[in-house]
Amino acid sequence: VSASGRLPRWLKRPIPRSNSNHMTAGLLEELKLETVCDNAKCPNRMECYSQQTATFMILGAVCTRPCGFCAVHRGRPPELPESDEPERLAEAAARLGLKHVVITSVTRDDLPDGGADHFYRCVVAVRERTGATTEVLTPDFVHCKPSLARVIEARPDVFNHNMETVPRLYRRVRGPKSDYAWTLQMMLDVKKYDSSVRTKSGLMLGLGEERAELIDALADLREHDVDFLTLGQYLQPGEKYLPVVRYVPPEEFDELGEIARGMGFKKVASGPFVRSSYHARDMAETAV
Ligand code: SF4
Ligand code: SF4
Repeated sequence: VSASGRLPRWLKRPIPRSNSNHMTAGLLEELKLETVCDNAKCPNRMECYSQQTATFMILGAVCTRPCGFCAVHRGRPPELPESDEPERLAEAAARLGLKHVVITSVTRDDLPDGGADHFYRCVVAVRERTGATTEVLTPDFVHCKPSLARVIEARPDVFNHNMETVPRLYRRVRGPKSDYAWTLQMMLDVKKYDSSVRTKSGLMLGLGEERAELIDALADLREHDVDFLTLGQYLQPGEKYLPVVRYVPPEEFDELGEIARGMGFKKVASGPFVRSSYHARDMAETAV
């Protein structure tokens, strides 16, 4: 059953037209940087920019994975990481006055370290230049513990890796290389490498998950000491992507948020428009 195509009233919200106060397209163009916020035309832009938060995409715009929900371009990325990208990122964060910088990337299975050292350099450059808090939203580094350790060596304030969906739907949604057990293991390993780093994960709802499966997945995250949680509605980015099975009503998001808080997550953002980096600064400032 597909619910795609019929958008319920609670998802009809005007897209912000201008963001010139905070994020100037010119600046991003000059520094050759990409933000997820603008690329994905994220409906939360006004809110996030006003909280001096933005999400930058590093390591290029071509992904080596075929996730069924994601509109990022697929293929073989030709380029090595740009060695001056960390400095350009730090420059943009400084000029935009950002207080919390989220750094994410496509998956780079073609690079020996999956891009981990580049993440390290970006986090260090942003912190040294701006003093902003940092959050990494990383790929899974193909089961490579040294890569994960390298990212954590940079001491990001928050390590975020999205579970995205329940185990039964994992391969269908996240592709054949995805691995539920590894996703959970990463979360524990982060704390082993540096117990001061807070961990965060998120799921998209409406992909066909059953409620009991969802609650079990949240329990798994808590068992692996995950601090922060985001729950949002999956929206189909185009016809060739996975269909929306269900639009979850706002009241149900509220209820699930309460359940998650009861399970011990320190901060929970749950709602139709919630994205992985929504209210990220607020979460990052939460003492754990
Ligand atoms: Fe950017 Fe994330 Fe905020 Fe959307 S939710 S505007 S992607 S920081
Ligand atoms: Fe999109 Fe990330 Fe999947 Fe690549 S790995 S297709 S960027 S969700």
